[in-house]
Amino acid sequence: MIQNFQGMARRLVAQLEREGIRNKPVLEVIEKTPRHLFMPQSLAHKAYENTALPIGKGQTISQPLMVASMTQLLMQHDCKKVLEIGTGSGYQTAILAQLVAQVCSVERIAELQYQAKRRLKQLELHNVSMRHGDGWLGWRSKAPFDGIIVTAAASELPQQLMAQLSDGGVMIIPVGTDKQRLIVVRRFGDVFERKELGEVKFVPLVPGEPV
Ligand code: SAH
Repeated sequence: MIQNFQGMARRLVAQLEREGIRNKPVLEVIEKTPRHLFMPQSLAHKAYENTALPIGKGQTISQPLMVASMTQLLMQHDCKKVLEIGTGSGYQTAILAQLVAQVCSVERIAELQYQAKRRLKQLELHNVSMRHGDGWLGWRSKAPFDGIIVTAAASELPQQLMAQLSDGGVMIIPVGTDKQRLIVVRRFGDVFERKELGEVKFVPLVPGEPV
């Protein structure tokens, strides 16, 4: 059991700052969120290293630098209502829930979603709605969203997600199969402006029925 995570979290945040993360609220939230609760206990001793770690079902909790970078990008656009695709461990969800008014999160693996829900409740983060479903379809009844963050790599830009962006909204999504790139899409009316950032490595955004 990890008794006192604050010191380790502080060192992680110092490392993220050295890697170029500048957004103070994002750094503060990462510092106070117990990442070790979002993974199997056997891996908790690695929770404050800057690495992705397995969470079961062939999935991973994303690397802290990736969580910080994507969240920082989203925060540059003053998002209030955010859709996350790929709840996974719920760690990115927890970070977002402390920065924006409302988070909606979709996960296709029921067991991961169940565990994530339990963790968010334990941390008393109540501004999150979760759905077991196919993220390619987004969450139409909750749309539009000022921000959409996808934490699995899509083979192409999902049209349904683009349609659920509000006017002026922003989507951050890894796209590609062998080679993946982080893409930032902004919506202006019917026009979608797209910017390519660096190469990234995520598990795939799996098509088809949830499990
Ligand atoms: N943000 C998470 C990342 C988990 S990995 C974290 O840091 O813990 C990506 C997640 O996307 C996995 O849990 C995987 O099951 C989920 N996923 C993959 N394809 C999906 C789809 N089509 N719809 C919803 N979730 C999907």
